[in-house]
Amino acid sequence: MSTPAMEELTSAGALTVLSEDEEMFRASVREFAEGEIRPRSEAMEEHAKLDSALIKQCFDLGLMGIEVPEEFGGSGGTFFNAILAVEEVSRVDASVGVLVDVQNTLVANALLRYGSPEQKKKYVTQLAASKVGAYCLSEASSGSDAFAMATRAREDGDGYIINGRKLWITNGNEAEIFIVFANANPEAGYKGVTAFIIEKGMEGFSVGKKENKLGIRASSTTEIILEDVRVPRENILGEFGKGYKVSIETLNEGRIGIGAQMVGIAQGAMEAALNYSGERVQFGKAINTFQGVQFQLAEMATELEAARLLVYNAARLKDAGLPFVKEAAIAKLFSSRAAEHITSQAIEVYGGYGYVKDYPVEKFWRDAKIGAIYEGTSNMQLMTIAKLMTQRKQPLTNG
Ligand SMILES: Cc1cc2nc3c(=O)[nH]c(=O)nc-3n(C[C@H](O)[C@H](O)[C@H](O)COP(=O)(O)OP(=O)(O)OC[C@H]3O[C@@H](n4cnc5c(N)ncnc54)[C@H](O)[C@@H]3O)c2cc1C
Repeated sequence: MSTPAMEELTSAGALTVLSEDEEMFRASVREFAEGEIRPRSEAMEEHAKLDSALIKQCFDLGLMGIEVPEEFGGSGGTFFNAILAVEEVSRVDASVGVLVDVQNTLVANALLRYGSPEQKKKYVTQLAASKVGAYCLSEASSGSDAFAMATRAREDGDGYIINGRKLWITNGNEAEIFIVFANANPEAGYKGVTAFIIEKGMEGFSVGKKENKLGIRASSTTEIILEDVRVPRENILGEFGKGYKVSIETLNEGRIGIGAQMVGIAQGAMEAALNYSGERVQFGKAINTFQGVQFQLAEMATELEAARLLVYNAARLKDAGLPFVKEAAIAKLFSSRAAEHITSQAIEVYGGYGYVKDYPVEKFWRDAKIGAIYEGTSNMQLMTIAKLMTQRKQPLTNG
């Protein structure tokens, strides 16, 4: 329970002090993650597949429509709530973390912001209730240079015919609602890119090859194949030719979610290392009594604290309606590096036991690697940060 002093701290800007509602929400997600996700994590990793009963539980608990208003059957929470959920889930299993992350920070987010009243009524309601969403931007030849996409939309009567292949699509196997970016006017360059809402059952739509990955193995990453898929005009999300805006703006927010995933992974690895170091005896003593090991743990805690503050700050700025794009890029860049380093240190604290699959830390390390790649590689984050720094009209006295 939060005390008046804690409320004061929150309003004074202490980022890690949660309001009473946030604390209750966080506790409920942790209980779910410990009780329902942890027992299934190993099997999901082994079979490289999310447990469908677990996905249903995520819906039942309201984790798949956190920011969705109650009128559409969602939880009516904040973006910060979504960040807390991604962190807590990823502390136990980062594959479930990215399921929750993409659903909330990309798919529901884009539909809530750009959807027409009819689209919201139809699709947002389904997203909050039972249908998984996916966000289809990348292709084999267009990753960082996303708007160089080859997928095309051609006008046809009262709709569009879409052809192309998307690659690396998270939730590809589980999703039923897809936000697909296609260029509907290639002569206009990126100003031809348009976002469409596509349903799994539409003719010509199919899910292709599933990737065999280093980490987040239970999360499906698939190809999406579009062969003459006929999409009605009313399924354009946002304005025609403004898909680039839909994509940039949702990814600006989405990458705070990836930051939260990285913080959760790092937290899980650090806790595991801390516990293990209290149990492992060498030279007649628990290894956590050696200053060398204590310093490793202290370094981990320091990096984790900094990463969490950056992620929470970006999320709170976004909820407050303040500029957050540079802060979001910094948060993703730093937290993905921190997670990689902390999880690597955790393996070393475990020694040889850290290197084998009987213990959890090698998985945390493999899961952390994706943070530097998806939703914009680390170089892309550096470019965003630098661009926003150098565009400033004021001297850069405050960083
Ligand atoms: C597991 C996984 C899940 C994913 N999920 C999704 C999803 O759900 N939806 C989706 O649309 N995409 C998804 N992606 C795709 C992901 O966003 C891309 O992989 C990412 O944007 C990088 O694109 P790329 O792989 O083509 O690498 P490239 O763009 O080819 O980059 C290769 C290297 O070149 C560097 N580079 C490229 N251009 C520049 C430049 N101008 N300056 C400096 N360095 C540069 C990059 O930083 C990188 O180091 C996913 C990817 C993976 C691996």
